[in-house]
Amino acid sequence: MLQALKQELSLLAGLQRELDKRKTDGLLRQRRLLDSPQAEHIVANDQQFLSFCSNDYLGLANHPKLIATMQAAAGDSGVGSGASNLITGHHRYHDTLEKRLAKFVGMPAALVFSTGYMANIGVLGALVGRGDAIFADKLNHACLNEGSYYSLAEFHRYPHNDVATLEKLLNASTAKHKLIAADAVFSMDGDIAPIPEYLALCQKYDAYLYLDDAHGFGVLGTHGAGSLSHFHIQSPRIIMMATLGKAAGVAGAFVAGEQVVIDYLIQTAKSYVYSTPAPPALSATLTESVNLIEQGDDLRAHLQDLIRTLKQHLQLTKWKLMPSITAVQPLLVGNNHEVVSLSEHLQKCGILVPAIRPPTVPVNTARLRISLSAAHTQSDVLKLAHALNEAERNMQS
Ligand SMILES: *Cc1c(COP(=O)(O)O)cnc(C)c1O
Repeated sequence: MLQALKQELSLLAGLQRELDKRKTDGLLRQRRLLDSPQAEHIVANDQQFLSFCSNDYLGLANHPKLIATMQAAAGDSGVGSGASNLITGHHRYHDTLEKRLAKFVGMPAALVFSTGYMANIGVLGALVGRGDAIFADKLNHACLNEGSYYSLAEFHRYPHNDVATLEKLLNASTAKHKLIAADAVFSMDGDIAPIPEYLALCQKYDAYLYLDDAHGFGVLGTHGAGSLSHFHIQSPRIIMMATLGKAAGVAGAFVAGEQVVIDYLIQTAKSYVYSTPAPPALSATLTESVNLIEQGDDLRAHLQDLIRTLKQHLQLTKWKLMPSITAVQPLLVGNNHEVVSLSEHLQKCGILVPAIRPPTVPVNTARLRISLSAAHTQSDVLKLAHALNEAERNMQS
């Protein structure tokens, strides 16, 4: 009886067919069940692994000082925000974090969002709309694209880091306002956008730049202030966003820019206005995390040492490490099946490195996304390098 009813529900039956198809195509994704803190050595699916999967680039996600701060802040501010920011949800801890972030990145003001995804979805639609145009790098993160669609502005994509094509598009545009939107550090490539060139185009064509620094914040620039600091760039034409769940080790995101931009977003960014903020204790923890980032020059130096070690000890002829000075060190394999068997082979050796395939990356550029963290030791990285060297020799024979 119930079975018959289930078969009649065509929507649900369609979902099942879709899932079955993904499974037969080898595209069904599975979550690993984690039974340890996020760290370089994890327990996932009841097994111990050396992990190169996390975006916790400075190793702060399990930092004793941050754990203690979160516990203490929960004690004095509770565990829930209770209402949206514009009602009674805006706690002093949120406010302190915003001021701390603005000062740290050298911008007049900042606004905290619950996640990076929500920030990108809310901000683009608030800043531009019908009659305006967004110019986006082809390899931008999915949520920048989503935010662009929601904005109803014209949407132009240019090839990855291609300044000349971008200039042609800007030159041809008759839009009222023009906004270039790009990842500052690309999540699957680890390379850095040509930010000085973008700013020059903004000045030439009266455009603005929205930069997503999810992978640069905490890692690049003076004391980890991010990609803008890396290039020593400041401009009222720039609005930056960064996530706080990666190098900052906690959760959330912020947008920083001119005071008028932030004031306007508080009124109009829907994912800010109509959403309950993350608990104040999280903001208190993040303020402490910004302190650790700022004092973390030795962590960043160690991270750079690990990158050097990886580059020096990989002896590969076929697979290639892509050029990157960031914590994201992708190993280009090319073939989809090959990258999956490589990732599975490493897993059998107790090492987790995710295989990234199209459509996440362009066709024929399947890769391992190796992400390094200051929590890794030299011997962790040597273990990975040796496993990869051996895997290439064995898979060719
Ligand atoms: C992770 C990521 C986001 C999303 O941030 P969350 O806080 O995880 O929602 C946005 N942009 C880029 C480039 C990212 O890598």
